[in-house]
Amino acid sequence: MRMGSSWRWQLSRAMRLALRWCRLCRPQRGGRAGGSRPWISGRTSELWSYSKVLLKSLYYNSLSNSDTLLDCVFEPVYWIVDNVTRWFGVVFVCLVILLTTSVLVIVYLFVLPTILSTYPVLWIVWHLCCGHWLLIMVVFHYYKATTTSPGHPPKQKVHIPSVSICKKCITPKPPRTHHCSICDICVLKMDHHCPWLNNCVGHFNHRYFFSFCLYMTLGCIYCSISSRNLFLEAYSAVEFVSCPFQSYYQTPPPEYTFRETTAHKCIIFLCVLTSSVAVALGGLTLWHAMLISRGETSVERHINRKETKRLREKGKVFRNPHHHGKMNNWKLLFGVEKKSHWFTRVLLPSSHLPSGDGITWDCTFTRRDPMAI
Ligand SMILES: [Zn+2]
Ligand SMILES: [Zn+2]
Repeated sequence: MRMGSSWRWQLSRAMRLALRWCRLCRPQRGGRAGGSRPWISGRTSELWSYSKVLLKSLYYNSLSNSDTLLDCVFEPVYWIVDNVTRWFGVVFVCLVILLTTSVLVIVYLFVLPTILSTYPVLWIVWHLCCGHWLLIMVVFHYYKATTTSPGHPPKQKVHIPSVSICKKCITPKPPRTHHCSICDICVLKMDHHCPWLNNCVGHFNHRYFFSFCLYMTLGCIYCSISSRNLFLEAYSAVEFVSCPFQSYYQTPPPEYTFRETTAHKCIIFLCVLTSSVAVALGGLTLWHAMLISRGETSVERHINRKETKRLREKGKVFRNPHHHGKMNNWKLLFGVEKKSHWFTRVLLPSSHLPSGDGITWDCTFTRRDPMAI
């Protein structure tokens, strides 16, 4: 709107409001006779009621309850958490890249030369193949999980199957779609917002996220086991140097070069980091594996638990419409349509799209029927 038309519109609005108030305050023709005081009192109470209705209509909602009130009270806290998570997402992604690179550098500088110089040929071949396969899988799935959009409901199409309307986006929400307050958009088959990916995990990148967790855990376990002998050696060397009195009376402390001391510290860092990540990420991977087996997302886990409890109180049993049997759920996630896909789509990097569009879902109760492969 242009500036000129804007102030003219504001002025006409003010005039309209003033006229309306004058009309309200003016005594009505054929009104009460016998003095102005009762009329003023009547008009004042009328105005008071009118103002109250006006004020209440601004925030009235028939669906309001204690949850809505709590949401309103904690809205500033949510706002801060959402913004901090959004900005820290970039920091977390840089941290993942930095730590993975540091582990790679240590493996190439200290662990791999030891394997090449001390292990038999077959073990060397196995280490080279296994280590590089895990590295390729981790890098590929992390890149795809961070750069692939999880999928959003179309804004133009109005004739899509929807279960509700998103009060933030004011658009229809298809089944399994939820609003991400950090990305500020609705996400198809939303699982959760992952700060380590700086992205939402949804329909189109769920497989990449799970494969990254799985291969990163395997990679960390591989690094911890491969460097265990070097770790024990480095730990005893560091302990020996840090206890000069004990070594003075028994054996003279060995002279370590700068390269050896650096190698010892790097190996300890590598082992501590990979073991900790293996435990933490391994737990998360197991949790998500359990959810996939049940045909649920992290969000649906909470919803379904509430629904199960609610229906149990009514003497009914809740059945998850997206659970097609354990094996079928895994096939749907990995996009396995024939047996060779277990190799080409699960054990090797693959960019195939997930089955379905994330908007319409097959909710028939055929979970006991095996999927044809
Ligand atoms: Zn939304
Ligand atoms: Zn998000």
